[in-house]
Amino acid sequence: MRYISTRDNAIQYTASQAIAQGLAKDGGLLTPFYIPKLPGKALDDMRDMAYQQRAVYVMKQFLEEFSVKELTDYANAAYGPDRFDSPAVAPVRTVDGNTHCLELWHGPTCAFKDMALQMLPHLLTASLAKTEEEKTVCILVATSGDTGKGALEGFKNVPRTRILVFYPKDGVSQVQQLQMVTQEGTNVGVSAVVGNFDDAQTGVKKLFSDEAVRRELAAKGYFFSSANSINWGRVLPQIVYYISAYCDLVRDEKIAAGQAVNICVPTGNFGNILAAYYAGEMGLPIDQLICASNSNNVLTDFIREGVYDRNRTFYNTASPSMDILISSNLERLLLALTQDPAEVKGYMTRLNETGRYQVSDKIRTRLQKRFKGYFCDDHETKRVIRGMFEKNGYLIDTHTAVAFSALEQYRRETGDDTPAIVASTASPFKFCASVLEALGETAIADGLDALDQLTAKTGQPAPAPLAGLRDKKVRFTQVVEKENMVDAVRSLLE
Ligand SMILES: *Cc1c(COP(=O)(O)O)cnc(C)c1O
Repeated sequence: MRYISTRDNAIQYTASQAIAQGLAKDGGLLTPFYIPKLPGKALDDMRDMAYQQRAVYVMKQFLEEFSVKELTDYANAAYGPDRFDSPAVAPVRTVDGNTHCLELWHGPTCAFKDMALQMLPHLLTASLAKTEEEKTVCILVATSGDTGKGALEGFKNVPRTRILVFYPKDGVSQVQQLQMVTQEGTNVGVSAVVGNFDDAQTGVKKLFSDEAVRRELAAKGYFFSSANSINWGRVLPQIVYYISAYCDLVRDEKIAAGQAVNICVPTGNFGNILAAYYAGEMGLPIDQLICASNSNNVLTDFIREGVYDRNRTFYNTASPSMDILISSNLERLLLALTQDPAEVKGYMTRLNETGRYQVSDKIRTRLQKRFKGYFCDDHETKRVIRGMFEKNGYLIDTHTAVAFSALEQYRRETGDDTPAIVASTASPFKFCASVLEALGETAIADGLDALDQLTAKTGQPAPAPLAGLRDKKVRFTQVVEKENMVDAVRSLLE
């Protein structure tokens, strides 16, 4: 299987080159040349497998250079009982007859980023060995909250890796900040940046492209790489859980083998829903993909009108991990829809220069055949959380609530009640304050005390990794100005 840049198919890469490199040299995203079809009996074969075995089965289709033995070792290490608090790893909870919630937050950081970031370190270190890279990889991450902690946990104490995370000083929740500054491990570093997420992200991108800094690091035996969702090694493990959820539903006789389902995903950078699209291309019987957004509804407009326009107001919402106006992974979908890297390159150039592009009618029609877009604001998000808890006794976080709202809107508008799988992306305890407000609390306790308040209100225990933060020591207190991020890199690599 060969990998190409979304903007140029002249140069082809192996899987390990794609994963080691992270991003193509021309700025495009490294993407499989074609999406392999699952063998005819695959869904039958996988029905009675454990999650780890399903992961090997699916990932192997894309990773010829990796043996089944290698992938089995990675899957057992990444998704073991010491990491995930559910033996199913990604359990499916049926909410009502034809609505099923895929819980993706049973890992060490209580958000869906763990599903890929527990696997990526194994794929990346093996890829470095296969490509004979001798330097130590220094992974730089700018985070608005969930990716940073997920990457720190994934790469903690992994040999020949260093990981440095930059978060906006006043831009993350108290729980998220505590999760990061108490991080354990000998190869990790965390720094706050004075500024917002965009400042941190811009700073990291500058470090990547600064030749002098690269040379300085190379002399010390390091090179930079990325752990965000532009890396193919993060998208691939996400395909697995959609296939796994479908197998669970067939095994448990909630749907018939071969029956079509719809999938609804709360979306930011477009990585998670893209993985669902690829699962469909592999042959999973998916009818509609419902893309759920918050008030930053750039994707809703794109799906409805074929115009992507980031020139709009940015809102800080109750679902902060979806507060994003440039959805990087959409570029991979554009390649799939156009089959034409030159056309994708044209759209991306326009996005860069004007913040806007319009796809052709043909592409818009193809897009609308598979995708539907809906959004909701914070008021509606909280209404959904309250309704779900009162009606079903099911506590969901703000991001998941946006998805349930989108599904509700879709069903009301179309009357289509095909069985639906809703991706649940975070534990409600990660966003205590908003969830408590949704449940009608007015005085919200400070910091970790809000975990107890949510437990008192709902009778549900906080996940162990969040409750355990109380006993952790703060290890990282560094704050840098955005111009001085290179100093933080230097001091953290000492
Ligand atoms: C990252 C994240 C999302 C958005 O996922 P994308 O793959 O970026 O679309 C949604 N919800 C939560 C809780 C997240 O952490």
